[in-house]
Amino acid sequence: VAKSEGKHRYRAYDPSMERGRELTKQLESDLHRAIGTDQIYVLFQPVVNAGDGRTIGVEALARWRHPDRGEISPDIFIPIAEKSGLIVALGRQILREACQHTRSTGLDLAVNLSPAQFWNDNLFEDITSILEETEFPTHRLELEITENYLLRRPEAAAQVLNRLRRIGIRVALDDFGTGYASVAYLKRFKMDKLKLDRSFVERIANDSEAASVASAMIALGQALNLNIAAEGVETEDQARALRIAGCTHLQGWLFGRPQASSTLMAEIPLSRRA
Ligand code: C2E
Ligand code: MG
Ligand code: MG
Ligand code: MG
Repeated sequence: VAKSEGKHRYRAYDPSMERGRELTKQLESDLHRAIGTDQIYVLFQPVVNAGDGRTIGVEALARWRHPDRGEISPDIFIPIAEKSGLIVALGRQILREACQHTRSTGLDLAVNLSPAQFWNDNLFEDITSILEETEFPTHRLELEITENYLLRRPEAAAQVLNRLRRIGIRVALDDFGTGYASVAYLKRFKMDKLKLDRSFVERIANDSEAASVASAMIALGQALNLNIAAEGVETEDQARALRIAGCTHLQGWLFGRPQASSTLMAEIPLSRRA
């Protein structure tokens, strides 16, 4: 009994938790100073058309090069920014930079939006003013949101989504399959695309049960008339299975890692651009 409970019991007294809190506090104040500087930058990962393999867009992925600690993963610093409220200023910097770097490429641009950004009263004004300032075409911007925070206030969430979509901004549901959105909510929240989470993609080529689940999710997206992207595609086998199942867009290391916009554009032959 002691053994099975041990993990949780010891965790409560773990001195590394204290160190963890200290580190978080330190990173928060470092992040505060990093915003507005080139410590924060954006990489772009290609998104390809499932049918012909052409690159039709990119997803912007934020990076933080800490002066002493080196590269810090967004899985670490985005939650810190989120809890401290820094995400709003950080998000503006990321969107502005992403628009500037991709404006002349003709590619679609997907940008991730965290809950505190989505629920911020100035979201709409912030986005439209950055689009104007960078002369980025509204219809080429796609915002990636996750289902869990929509469900907290479904009524208000639908209004935010509609306001964005009314001016031509597209909305994609990121990490699809990991949250709690029901079919009813998927119908209610007007969106343009579902992004099947990497955890499903990982197993699609060699686990028949996982493949059936993924296919059912893709079929659901089709029934709702949505585009369906798969993220984290690493092998040809996965790409083939996802294409057959009906994905419209593919993204993953097989097609390209997140990279600087200059590298990315040099790597995509003109013939492969949509
Ligand atoms: P996400 O939006 O679901 O992004 C997909 C993640 O999968 C990215 O991790 C990407 O680098 C990684 N990835 C892409 N292809 C592959 C693949 O083939 N195999 C594997 N193993 N991984 C792949 P990254 O860049 O570390 O970002 C992690 C998460 O941090 C993102 O998940 C997103 O939730 C968040 N994030 C990143 N940038 C931003 C941002 O600008 N704003 C906000 N709010 N969140 C961001
Ligand atoms: Mg994303
Ligand atoms: Mg995702
Ligand atoms: Mg994710």
